[in-house]
Amino acid sequence: MPTSGKILLLSCCAPCACAVIKKLHEDGADFAVAFYNPNIHPAAEYAKRRDEQQKLCVRWHIPFIELEYDPENWLKQTLPYKDEPERGARCSLCFELRLRRVMEYAKANGFAAVASVLGVSRWKNLAQVNAAAARASADTGVPYVEIEGRKHGMQEARLALIKELGLYNQDYCGCVYSEAAVLARRKNPAA
Ligand code: SF4
Repeated sequence: MPTSGKILLLSCCAPCACAVIKKLHEDGADFAVAFYNPNIHPAAEYAKRRDEQQKLCVRWHIPFIELEYDPENWLKQTLPYKDEPERGARCSLCFELRLRRVMEYAKANGFAAVASVLGVSRWKNLAQVNAAAARASADTGVPYVEIEGRKHGMQEARLALIKELGLYNQDYCGCVYSEAAVLARRKNPAA
């Protein structure tokens, strides 16, 4: 990572974060993992993803910071965009809300910068994540370190780790809207 000083890495889930965390750990990077994901629905799913992420951090001795789980606030803010498709305006706001909160935490707690794995999955638009991060960074004054978690063998490393560690790997992004979309596809695969 190009920035000096301790980095706070926002993770959405262990399957997206595993290869990036392993690489940072092996590179000797100074970092901690933050879990701020009020988008995840329902609460039992949130707990499952959080616990899986925490287990990874324990495995590699990485500090793990869980921020508040406040889905009511997330739902209220994203409600105007509830009918947006995945990768649309709701997702831009979702990325920005989470990144801004983690940047505020980073600023208050002596971190030099924030990074995230929000754009690691092939279902995500990395440019959209980086644009949301740039807005949150401009608002908070906290630098954002862009992470490329797919190229240079990272995607293969990620898939291998998911298998090797038997990580819980969910089939929807996280929010109630993405869950509903997956359920609808299952019911009617031809649609
Ligand atoms: S689909 Fe994923 S990124 Fe988009 S709003 Fe839902 S949880 Fe957030």
